[in-house]
Amino acid sequence: MEKKKNIKDFTLEDLEKYMVQKKLPKFRAAQIFEWIYKDVDSFDQMTNLSKDLISKLTQEFYIGRAEIEVLLVSKEDKTRKYLLKLEDGNAVECVLMEYSYGKTICISTQVGCRMNCSFCASALGGLTRHMTSGEMMEEMMAVSRDIGERISNIVLMGTGEPFDNYEEVIKFLRTVNNQKGMNVGQRHITISTSGLVPKILEFAEEDLQCNLAISLHAADNPTRNTLMPINKK
Ligand code: SF4
Repeated sequence: MEKKKNIKDFTLEDLEKYMVQKKLPKFRAAQIFEWIYKDVDSFDQMTNLSKDLISKLTQEFYIGRAEIEVLLVSKEDKTRKYLLKLEDGNAVECVLMEYSYGKTICISTQVGCRMNCSFCASALGGLTRHMTSGEMMEEMMAVSRDIGERISNIVLMGTGEPFDNYEEVIKFLRTVNNQKGMNVGQRHITISTSGLVPKILEFAEEDLQCNLAISLHAADNPTRNTLMPINKK
């Protein structure tokens, strides 16, 4: 039997393709997508689906969730720092910050990182693995569930180099921006990169209007070369 897949790893378009492949009505994809981002934890709660479809989904998919392993809250500014446990036992950090314009979450995109910036603790163990788009969605959802509020701003600035995990990050951006799901505006999302130039150029060709931040960390090339090996590439 095939291994069950995390349904949060599917964009709305992926779900539509699945419906077409299985000769099921395509509009069901949007209904399922809406339920997932209403944060149901079982397919049985998707009350507008037929029993047959619920049973099919239950056989093929699961609704992935991350567990809050550690939560630290700053007494000064209420910043909340989370350590989330993923299904395979790996853990990633994300941070929720409060600003006058709303709450901003800083999410991780990889378990570890291979960019090797000299000042960064995340690089010490190298790259363990890429995160999936569904796991990035669950960073948003686990924190939102914890505070009981919608989060309106995202920065991809946690552990990992987002453009080293390009395809999953693009899937995440499309899913989190979808109006039938969490509906976070593209202008409210910032991707921070250490400077993977080919991927920056590829990103410029995507139909996405998210903000891009490039971490320089130095005002001249020789200094940047010593701090960030990516600068020599
Ligand atoms: S790219 Fe980011 S996470 Fe990776 S080593 Fe550099 S600063 Fe750390």
